[in-house]
Amino acid sequence: MTASAKPRVLVLGLDGATWILLDPLLAQNKLPTLGKLIQNGSRCALRSCIQPSSEQAWSAFATGKQNGKFGLYGFYQRSQNSYALEYINASHRRAATLWRILSDRNKKCVVVNVPLTWPVEPINGALVSGLMTPGLNSEFTYPPGVKNDLLRELGEYIIDVDIERGETETGSLGHLVARVRRMSELQTRAFEYLLDKNPDWDFAMLVHRAPDILCHKFWRYQDPTHPLYDEREAAQWGSVINDCFEYLDAYNARLLEKYAGENTTVIVLSDHGFGPLTHAVYLNLYFAQRGLLAYKEQSGSTLASALRAGVKRLNNPLIAAAKSKVFEMLPQLKSNLHYSMAYGNMDWSCTKAYAVGTMGNVYLNVRGREPQGSIETGDYETVRDEVIATMRELQDPETRRPIFDFVYRREEIYHGDALDEAPDVIGLIDGPYHIAAVDWRGVSASHNVVEKVGNQLLFVSDTSGQHRMDGILIAKGAGISLHRSITPSPHLIDLAPTILQLLGEPIPTDMDGHAVNGLIADKRMVDYAPAVKFENAMDGAYSDAEQKEIEERLAGLGYLG
Ligand SMILES: [Zn+2]
Repeated sequence: MTASAKPRVLVLGLDGATWILLDPLLAQNKLPTLGKLIQNGSRCALRSCIQPSSEQAWSAFATGKQNGKFGLYGFYQRSQNSYALEYINASHRRAATLWRILSDRNKKCVVVNVPLTWPVEPINGALVSGLMTPGLNSEFTYPPGVKNDLLRELGEYIIDVDIERGETETGSLGHLVARVRRMSELQTRAFEYLLDKNPDWDFAMLVHRAPDILCHKFWRYQDPTHPLYDEREAAQWGSVINDCFEYLDAYNARLLEKYAGENTTVIVLSDHGFGPLTHAVYLNLYFAQRGLLAYKEQSGSTLASALRAGVKRLNNPLIAAAKSKVFEMLPQLKSNLHYSMAYGNMDWSCTKAYAVGTMGNVYLNVRGREPQGSIETGDYETVRDEVIATMRELQDPETRRPIFDFVYRREEIYHGDALDEAPDVIGLIDGPYHIAAVDWRGVSASHNVVEKVGNQLLFVSDTSGQHRMDGILIAKGAGISLHRSITPSPHLIDLAPTILQLLGEPIPTDMDGHAVNGLIADKRMVDYAPAVKFENAMDGAYSDAEQKEIEERLAGLGYLG
């Protein structure tokens, strides 16, 4: 087959995009590229994975499997036999990516800026890693030489934008907006450069991270119903998110024009949707109030109270500039800050359950499994039922709406070799709530569990947007049905098998997703291939300096509790 006649799939990711924001822009004809794709193809909602967080969601996309097989449950997870948390990266993923599978079948892949692709894996083609890459000093490309080629060709490169430093005062919000746009432009050009260098590509994928970053930060300025909405600020910053979708549409137009030939299927998708974030929920405080978790006596010598004292000397609310002053004052505490604040003051012997992360993952404290486990193995199910019932009772005090849309036992939603590492209970939030593990107010039973944003000292910077389960999917081109309504909505894990089928490739039997029949016009029989045995041999240890960079970046996005 000649390069132009073979089937190809071009995937453009819009991290965090939602129809709620795109539909009004489409109606005003402000996104002509997406509009044309929809007109000549199909569109639908795309359900994210649980939890709908970028690192898990893009892994679900990449592997076609649910978390119990790819083994990731958050940006940081518990180290074995310890309460300590470690940051994750691609070396922790326990399933093969689509580009790994395709490379092994001699298909050529170009992959740019997909979250959680560092450390880079050798593929047939080229890869530039995305979110969770420590920085420009690391090896962030495959082949390694691509890094210097890109820097020479583009003059500079941006993997991710450091929000913590960019959002301290109103003046530098503009700097943040400009940096995010520059990042998107550089990544688009990197993608073009690599596609030109690999003209015989079969699968190509670029993820634009800009919508996710900007929706976290700027939601409040464009949503008059948001509690922090202010007309004057809205006049200045209210169009930032829409502007971003418009410039990405122009970048994508360029890519489609150059690279989407007759035999190319174009897929545009997001890993989750977005909506307002209006309340922080102190789940561990709630557990303490309900007798499921205990704190030690407050002591002036603990890291947490030392930090709190430092913070109190600074201005409230805790803005990023103040935070960095705290870190200057107490640099030796920085690396362990998050863990110490969240868990340094726990009385494990009296703790049955505790929350980790920002979304509702809860671990039980089991004797023989946790270092200071308090629950006898025989009591596990009874305690788990109690925790689940307690979580289901948690409400927004104003609306009386439950905080969690669903509360699951882990085996209800996950299966596979990595099930044992999953949180014991998973609370799914598809509303405006953010779980805050770190409580800067200090520990007190009289504090509110559910606090409106802006009312409290959040460790996280002032994020005002939060992920939702419903993302977007558009497909157009070779093999795609026209204007099909696809119900029920497909899931992220369905994309890898769909792409394999579009490429005429057999689908490994251990993928959990299914090719989306409604999308595919050409009803060839689906071929299956044996499961791919995958050993992750990557060395993904972060140095202390790299870990610090990663931590700051995640804190800026609100991904640290
Ligand atoms: Zn995302």
